[in-house]
Amino acid sequence: MGKNLNDIRADFPILDQQVNDEPLVYLDNAATTQKPKAVVEALTHYYYNDNANVHRGVHTLAERATEDFEAAREKVRAFINARSTKEVLFTRGTTTSLNWIAASYGEANITVGDEIVISYMEHHSNLVPWQQLALRKQATLKYIKMNADGTLDMADAQQQITDKTKIVAIAQVSNVLGVVNPIKELAKLAHQHGAVMVADGAQSLPNMPVDVQDLDCDFLAFSGHKMLGPTGIGGLYAKEDLLNAMEPIEFGGEMIDFVNLFDSSWSELPWKFEAGTPDISGAIGLGAAIDYLNQFGMAAVQEHEQKLVNYVLPKLLAIDGLTVYGPHDPAKHTGVIAFNLEGLHPHDLATGLDMEGVAVRAGHHCAQPLMKYLNVPATARASFYIYNTKADADRLVDSIVATKEFFK
Ligand code: PLP
Repeated sequence: MGKNLNDIRADFPILDQQVNDEPLVYLDNAATTQKPKAVVEALTHYYYNDNANVHRGVHTLAERATEDFEAAREKVRAFINARSTKEVLFTRGTTTSLNWIAASYGEANITVGDEIVISYMEHHSNLVPWQQLALRKQATLKYIKMNADGTLDMADAQQQITDKTKIVAIAQVSNVLGVVNPIKELAKLAHQHGAVMVADGAQSLPNMPVDVQDLDCDFLAFSGHKMLGPTGIGGLYAKEDLLNAMEPIEFGGEMIDFVNLFDSSWSELPWKFEAGTPDISGAIGLGAAIDYLNQFGMAAVQEHEQKLVNYVLPKLLAIDGLTVYGPHDPAKHTGVIAFNLEGLHPHDLATGLDMEGVAVRAGHHCAQPLMKYLNVPATARASFYIYNTKADADRLVDSIVATKEFFK
């Protein structure tokens, strides 16, 4: 990646610790990533030097805070190649962003008999807002199937997306199956039928280059904490004409132009949607996270993770009794790898791994319909990131084998 892995790891002090008397191997990156010193220092610097409310004051600190906050927006814009910062809204994260789309665009554009198309592999954040919208509006929620290897069944997508479809909402990368879904192709299909394309970028933005103009998606939601940034900050990209036509979700300070006793008018984009004091330090921290990732470039980040997947996936598949979900071809699998060990509950497996210092997640991963589809109650999940090494991959494999032996 143009920087030695040891140097990268040194940027993340949290990684240098023992857990249960073993050196920590952190493989829960799909849940949240660790933060480099540069991000923590950006937060500290802001609070030590520039803290003030944004957009309101004329004093120097307020100007500096506003400048830094808006500079972070520009960093997000460039990172996803949006046309303008008017198209970049700060939110609390993917969940808030998706709820905003459903509550604003969905509320205004969905009526009885309309169809919303999602997939069986969606995270609850990209499922429940659409399910509830469909229930409110008496619209139909439809699910695109998967192929046997966990990739999206594009033949079924062609069937499910019709002239009745108003919204197609799909994760760019699944947080369980590790597949990359063809958002560009889906957007084309959606547009052919007059629908809008919503991309859930929670797992794609941290791990691969994402260009909203190339994808031609209408909306893209993401979370800062999954890409080295702080928790509590994320974003919503939307095409400017859509945002202009949409109503704000929240009302109050910052988002208004004029307030009269009985009516009000809204500020221009993007502030029209950002009511109240925003997460200023969070945005600045996210900007620092983007700077950190940009020193490598997202193609290099993706390549690093792909190398780890190429290395670890065959080793996992070779463990007797271990079922790996999603494609078994490493070329089709990102660094999110879900698995189960025969005869062992995934929570016991994850606890066994924790005893070896290896942090993985176990549960339904906020994807209960997918668990049902896979006919499992839960899975364990390892997810790799820029600071993970082949040695981490070996520790994962060895600790699965050790846990298997322990419970035999
Ligand atoms: N979508 C996907 C694919 C995710 O993996 C996640 C988080 O795990 C979310 C949405 C929700 O993200 P957040 O909890 O940061 O809002």
